[in-house]
Amino acid sequence: MKGFEKILRGILKYRLTDKALMEKRFQVIKNNPSPTSLFITCMDSRILTSRFATLDVGDSFILRNAGNFIPPAESVSFDSMTTEPAALELACLSNVRHVFVCGHSDCKAINMLYKLKDECHDHNHCGGPLQMWIKKYGTPSVQKFSEFVKDNENHIGPVPFNGRFSQLNFQAYIDPENKFSIEDKLSQLNSLQQLHHVAGFPFVQDKLLKGQMRIHAMWFDVYSGDVYLFSRNNKRFIEITEKSYKELMQECYPAD
Ligand SMILES: [Zn+2]
Repeated sequence: MKGFEKILRGILKYRLTDKALMEKRFQVIKNNPSPTSLFITCMDSRILTSRFATLDVGDSFILRNAGNFIPPAESVSFDSMTTEPAALELACLSNVRHVFVCGHSDCKAINMLYKLKDECHDHNHCGGPLQMWIKKYGTPSVQKFSEFVKDNENHIGPVPFNGRFSQLNFQAYIDPENKFSIEDKLSQLNSLQQLHHVAGFPFVQDKLLKGQMRIHAMWFDVYSGDVYLFSRNNKRFIEITEKSYKELMQECYPAD
């Protein structure tokens, strides 16, 4: 069973299973949902955020695009407006406490960025919209990646990230166990780089300064289903497990 029929049959199944529970939840939150988080993820069909984080109705905003890029604040203008900054602003207006940028393994957008990494500055031969998007907003991650491979023969790190806020000042060892491909290492770097883009907007900075928001880099392995969270204390992505949960909570959860 494929495509259209699978979707319609899926909706029939939902009507028999989850719908009643969701209706109850809709009644509880009515017209005032108060999501506490924003997930910025890739549009890849293997990333089922609601499933792997067991999200319920009203829990989270989800923003998806090819490569989980956030355009840097300085690139935003009326003529170049994209949805990402608007979604971030909406999340701030809704008082979300946590923003997660979630990359993943075998990301087709990041694989393409890796292939195009030497021609990101060539705006004359951009190809279609996908290449334009990837070249334009992937360039800062490519720059970070070139520092990483130049300075680190073993492609491990540490890579320094510096920003105006303590949450943005950290070092990162990328895949120190060398489990993932070079493109996946770029994907992890890209997720960390996007934290800086998220924090580039004044309305986000205001929340960060007041301690009302925290931003996190997450990473999903599409082959194992493992979910990782970047730990500034450990300077690396840590798999979220029963064992690591407590330490990650202490580090990443603000006193609220
Ligand atoms: Zn992807």
